[in-house]
Amino acid sequence: MSSPEAGKAYSLSRAGALNVGVVGGGITGLTAAFYLLKAGCRVTVLEDRPQVGGLATHYDFGPFQWDKFYHCILTSDRPLLQLIGELGLTGEIRWTNTKVGFYDGAGFHSMSTVADFVRFPGLSAWEKFRLAPRVFAATRRLGRHHGRRQHLAR
Ligand SMILES: Cc1cc2nc3c(=O)[nH]c(=O)nc-3n(C[C@H](O)[C@H](O)[C@H](O)COP(=O)(O)OP(=O)(O)OC[C@H]3O[C@@H](n4cnc5c(N)ncnc54)[C@H](O)[C@@H]3O)c2cc1C
Repeated sequence: MSSPEAGKAYSLSRAGALNVGVVGGGITGLTAAFYLLKAGCRVTVLEDRPQVGGLATHYDFGPFQWDKFYHCILTSDRPLLQLIGELGLTGEIRWTNTKVGFYDGAGFHSMSTVADFVRFPGLSAWEKFRLAPRVFAATRRLGRHHGRRQHLAR
């Protein structure tokens, strides 16, 4: 849903008792509008910008679209995956394993495995010693929620 006109009100009408105005057409506003519509309300989304989506919107290059800001979806993002399912878009998801890396001006350095962590040139031995228990604790916590770290490839 997009429009060349800024300040447009997007009417998502459906017969219903309640008229609801939603200010902001980012994912929060659009999600609220979607569920309000499902609940039978008549919804108007008021968006200030020419394009809906807010921070999660995209550039339109014609043959393809590209995120304005990088976004990933993890397998642990259950409410979002539920929403995607309710929108009938689950089949559009292409999962892939993620890698994490840093650029330090001289090159990219992967930080995806224990070996990467040990080799990582951006931290001193003391900094790695201090950081390691926190990474371990965070990874364990994350592992309780989902098996493999994956993200949306498309
Ligand atoms: C670089 C980057 C990477 C990110 N990566 C992730 C990620 O991987 N996973 C993740 O879950 N989140 C990620 N986020 C965060 C995510 O993009 C935001 O949390 C989410 O898009 C916020 O949505 P929102 O609808 O709450 O707000 P916004 O996206 O800010 O939308 C608000 C909308 O309201 C409109 N608006 C504001 N005031 C008015 C008004 N008075 N009248 C009319 N319209 C108005 C704005 O124009 C805008 O369109 C990332 C963010 C950034 C910047």
